Amino acid sequence: MPTMKAAVVPELGASLVIRELQVPDPGPGQVLVKMEASGLCHTDIHAAHGDWPVKPHPPFVPGHEGVGVVVATGPGVTLHKAGDRVAIAWLGYACGHCDYCIGGWETLCEEQRNTGYSVDGAYAEYAVADDRYVVSVPDSISSFEAAPLTCAGVTTFKAIKVAGLQPGETAAVFGIGGLGHLALQYARVLGARVIAVDVEDAKLDLARELGADYAINARTDDPVKAIAELGGADVAVATAAAERSFEQAYASLRRGGRLACVALPADDTMTFSIFDTVLSGKSIIGSIVGTRNDLADVFALHAAGRTRVIAEPRQLADVNACFGEVLAGRVPARLVFTF
Ligand code: ZN
Ligand code: ZN
Repeated sequence: MPTMKAAVVPELGASLVIRELQVPDPGPGQVLVKMEASGLCHTDIHAAHGDWPVKPHPPFVPGHEGVGVVVATGPGVTLHKAGDRVAIAWLGYACGHCDYCIGGWETLCEEQRNTGYSVDGAYAEYAVADDRYVVSVPDSISSFEAAPLTCAGVTTFKAIKVAGLQPGETAAVFGIGGLGHLALQYARVLGARVIAVDVEDAKLDLARELGADYAINARTDDPVKAIAELGGADVAVATAAAERSFEQAYASLRRGGRLACVALPADDTMTFSIFDTVLSGKSIIGSIVGTRNDLADVFALHAAGRTRVIAEPRQLADVNACFGEVLAGRVPARLVFTF
């Protein structure tokens, strides 16, 4: 049997270990993908630490920004064939027949399985994935750039959409990391005025370079006050996994404003005023990743030159050091394991 290297979470809270595993056989309806690039999403760190109410079961392989080439197909595969380049996203499987699936909201399917969480993911040289839930990658997009688009891109694209951002409105993006650097670009694509908020000057410089109209350092300035002086935000997108930034994002909204909750802080709570929410007509919206259609749109926008992916390559063997880099906030935007 052929083997592959994979980064495995041996138990929740432990360091990952590189193990030699058997290359999985594609089962019915599955494709076997030889990985070319695999992005590191903050979710992978939460998964490995068991930070969230629903916990993964170790040992497991994290990773849900996998991009590679189909090298084998299981029985009944009809949508992809050997040689196709595909993206493996968070939504690894959905039932396909419940009202959410039929209504174009497969990301809410109650039978869904999640890549790198409830099924083994993309921190490996090979992975199996459901033929119906992998998404084709256009030839003009490199696997390295497609990887961050597969979660960070589609997740923020969807959040901006469900928040109903309109041309001429003001969008405040809290956290300019893997997600935020793409969120601000989608807000610009829609014709909004964009305010970037972070605690690192380097990330704010990046935000300006990517087209943010304003950049606010929440460590040295009060972002709520600064955004109020700019007229308030119609949409705030919370992409930083810090509880405080959710409350600041909410407080930065003007009347009629919408807060899109995207990041998932381990603490899992935020405090807000019901009185203010009602009288000011504010909304708090949860937005979970995006559908296959959303990802296809994200790829098309990138292929058309509307977005830039900021990422640095890493080796899978350095996965634990990479987690440390992300937690220390030292990463420009995204880290991508290349194979
Ligand atoms: Zn993710
Ligand atoms: Zn379903």
